[in-house]
Amino acid sequence: MDHFDCEVLIVGLGPVGAALAALLADAGVTSIAVEKDVSVYPLPRAAHFDHEIMRLFQQLGVADEVLSHARPAPAYEFRAADGRPLVHIPVSPRPAISGWANGYMFNQPGLETALRARLSASPLTQIRLGRRFESLAADAEGVTAVVAGPDGPETVRARYLVGCDGASSPVREALGGRLSSYGFDEPWLVIDAVVRPGGRVPDLNLQICDPARPTTCVLMGPGRHRWEFMLLPGETAEAVLGDDFIQDLLADWDVGQAIGIDRKAVYRFHGLMAETWRAGRVLLAGDAAHQTPPFAGQGMCSGLRDAANLAWKLKAVLREGAAEGLLDSYQAEREPNCRAYIELAIAMGRVVCTLDPEVAAQRDAQMLAQRAAGALPLPPMAPPPLSTGVIAPGTAGSGSQFPQPWTEVNGERLGLDDVLGAGAWLIVDGPLPGAGQAPPSLRIVSLADPLLAPFRAALGAWLGEHDAAAVLVRPDRYVFGSGAAGELMRGYAAALG
Ligand SMILES: Cc1cc2nc3c(=O)[nH]c(=O)nc-3n(C[C@H](O)[C@H](O)[C@H](O)COP(=O)(O)OP(=O)(O)OC[C@H]3O[C@@H](n4cnc5c(N)ncnc54)[C@H](O)[C@@H]3O)c2cc1C
Repeated sequence: MDHFDCEVLIVGLGPVGAALAALLADAGVTSIAVEKDVSVYPLPRAAHFDHEIMRLFQQLGVADEVLSHARPAPAYEFRAADGRPLVHIPVSPRPAISGWANGYMFNQPGLETALRARLSASPLTQIRLGRRFESLAADAEGVTAVVAGPDGPETVRARYLVGCDGASSPVREALGGRLSSYGFDEPWLVIDAVVRPGGRVPDLNLQICDPARPTTCVLMGPGRHRWEFMLLPGETAEAVLGDDFIQDLLADWDVGQAIGIDRKAVYRFHGLMAETWRAGRVLLAGDAAHQTPPFAGQGMCSGLRDAANLAWKLKAVLREGAAEGLLDSYQAEREPNCRAYIELAIAMGRVVCTLDPEVAAQRDAQMLAQRAAGALPLPPMAPPPLSTGVIAPGTAGSGSQFPQPWTEVNGERLGLDDVLGAGAWLIVDGPLPGAGQAPPSLRIVSLADPLLAPFRAALGAWLGEHDAAAVLVRPDRYVFGSGAAGELMRGYAAALG
């Protein structure tokens, strides 16, 4: 049993599995990704990702390719049936903390194709399409999975297995993993359209809170638009997917000649959370671990944050002698963040999915009054920082996202992440500590290093605001902690176990 085909077996090559494989390859970890389908999933799904995810694409070297399938997100507005704005979330004129626009609207198949192209160039990743995961057996050393391939069953043995196999996750089933539900469960018809040249469609994202037919209308990647219509009681998926029915629904939007329908599907929008994300050497990520209604555009983003969180911890355990218990911090850190986004999405969904006209009228009156008073009648748009896991609690900024300042070299934008590269960083204003106690992949860099010259003012300002001589930034760009360099290094080494 001591032969291993790879270090990590990834089941499912959706966006989360693909990003995890790419991050592991960058970390020098071998993986095999098995995927039951032979091509990218053809039905409508994610349309939005946020700036943190764009930073991840930058880290993976696919930012330019992804941007060719994306455009900055416009303002987001919830409207009453009579057109009055209930909530208006404007576009921030300033870049987000990551240095990118706050959000992007995109075409998911284009993104997935870009991620797969990135993987096919990596010698550390094997992609095996047309392979269906069937079962697993875990032991003290690793996991052996049985996969049905074109020539019959195959086995793959790995140190760890990560189920990135989506909402119905056979890996989660194999673990007997239970899902807890938020009790939000609404059926919607989703229509993706190609906008013909010169075609006019709305230029902001809209939730039409009309109790007669709650409707979403959002931008996607360049030249694409999406409409979503809530199913009313008694309507079936089969009926609403009919061409005539769809034409009737779109009639109010006056886009008949402007668009061509590209993809359509009926989904149930719900909020679900797997109770256990790790059983020994088997872990879950993405929709396998949690599902989010799409109103905040965060389901895939949450899954990609899982991949970013898990990849560096797997590397630390597999390559750097970190204790396996480090992997317990994965769910501890990620679950509260996912829950915050699910709760935000459900709060938005409850506003939109109101079918009772009287309740809708009361809602409108209340929200208009809140708006007039300058309040946002929704939970916070950004979740709180990490409060547990691999952080130095109580030190300023710990658990928050570390900013990425940018500069321009020969007309090209260059970010701090491009200069310092993958892995954890210890940025020190003052004498550097001896590297003796440092974890192997920690990059220790002085603020005086010429490399940091273009970013010195921004980094110095961060340290000044946090009253710290040093900051230790984790590989997923969350702050481990700030303070004295030697203490941070020792604390980080101890946290890795
Ligand atoms: C209408 C809609 C709108 C959405 N909008 C947004 C949005 O704007 N922003 C956002 O961030 N998210 C959004 N989401 C959510 C987002 O699409 C998902 O969270 C995301 O696709 C999940 O990625 P994943 O890789 O975890 O799973 P998936 O994309 O489902 O990929 C799982 C993969 O596993 C494979 N697989 C399954 N079983 C097996 C098996 N036995 N063996 C091998 N392979 C297997 C599947 O074929 C699939 O390729 C939306 C979802 C919907 C439905």
